[in-house]
Amino acid sequence: MVKKVLKFGGTSVGTSERIQHVAKIIKKERSLGNKIIAIVSAMAGQTNELLRLSKEISEEFNKRELDVLLSSGEQVTCALLAGCLINSNVKAKSWLNWQIPILTVGEHSNARIINIHIEKINKYLNEDGVAIIPGFQGISKNGDITSLGRGGSDATAVAVAKIFNADICEIYTDVDGVFSTDPNKIPVAKKIDKISYDEMLELSSLGAKVIQSSAVQTAMMYDIPLEVKSTFTERKGTKIFSQENIDYTKSVTGVAYSKDDAKITIIGVEDKPGVAANIFEPLSKAQINVDMVIQNISSDQKTTDITFTVKRDEVSKTKKILKGNNEIIYKEIIENDKVAKVSIVGAGMVSTPGVTYRMFRALSDEDINILAISTSEIKLSVIIEEENILKAIKKLHTIFDLD
Ligand code: ASP
Ligand code: MG
Repeated sequence: MVKKVLKFGGTSVGTSERIQHVAKIIKKERSLGNKIIAIVSAMAGQTNELLRLSKEISEEFNKRELDVLLSSGEQVTCALLAGCLINSNVKAKSWLNWQIPILTVGEHSNARIINIHIEKINKYLNEDGVAIIPGFQGISKNGDITSLGRGGSDATAVAVAKIFNADICEIYTDVDGVFSTDPNKIPVAKKIDKISYDEMLELSSLGAKVIQSSAVQTAMMYDIPLEVKSTFTERKGTKIFSQENIDYTKSVTGVAYSKDDAKITIIGVEDKPGVAANIFEPLSKAQINVDMVIQNISSDQKTTDITFTVKRDEVSKTKKILKGNNEIIYKEIIENDKVAKVSIVGAGMVSTPGVTYRMFRALSDEDINILAISTSEIKLSVIIEEENILKAIKKLHTIFDLD
């Protein structure tokens, strides 16, 4: 007998038929004698729909009420799934966030779970019940409903797995697992059987959408084994765990991309100590996340150009801050938001020389210009023109033996 946390994403519970299917999966797990806590997302599209309704009332909809509204999606799924299990003679019960309670800190729409009361639910599990918990939410110390940010049901699942000391946390979704790149774009993409937390963290923060990156981070911190698998097939999923348990035969595990970046260049800034700090400090104070930074020395040795990337939807805010910043003198600011970031990720990169140049050579063979570069121990990212993205992923996927 093992204690499992099973998390079902929006598409897995998108219709009443699908909820019935999920109930079958849980029933099977119960028949194996496992103790089950199920975490559910809102039915597919529901959170967006609720968000749309709030915007119909006001673009500046009250944050507290927005959390009340958005959290209702998961509560609906909880009741439907519990009802469905009860009908198929499985002892089950929904537990809403305030009934447990799931305690959070932090602001509305971006809260974080700090504790979960376990006694009542543990007792229920010991009496052979299945506990169904809504993902993506909790309550603050004032008792207000809070939500955890988009995709936050993954965070709930991992937190529940940790606090209840579960043996495994399984993330059920609409794909077979984590792929070497986006299978919708590159049909030869392969499912990865095992991947380390670090690699998964890079992949998910670089745009692979299967699992929320902060959830991976928590799992890594507490060494909670994760498995991403499909609700709709019986195929084996992707196991995510710590690096020691993985043999690396390949230098690169996956190719990720994102299309929400933009590049900003400040031309002709003074080249003297403190300038970069003067540029980036106000941006960081305004919560703007700067990703890559490049500084060129210009020929006159008095001025330089600084290029950096931010999320596309933060370009206008960034420009406004730069223009209002009288600590810096420059000639001009230019931007390009038709760029994309392509990254190769692999813990095997650490021990394989030459990965960097092979990536650059491959891109140049395809006539793709690199606009910016950033690296970490297990990742190499480049910014390129958005129109080249498909060509780039295809090529990299091939040359790093992932097809
Ligand atoms: N329903 C929420 C969302 O769509 C949370 C989740 O599904 O993980 O973002
Ligand atoms: Mg999700």
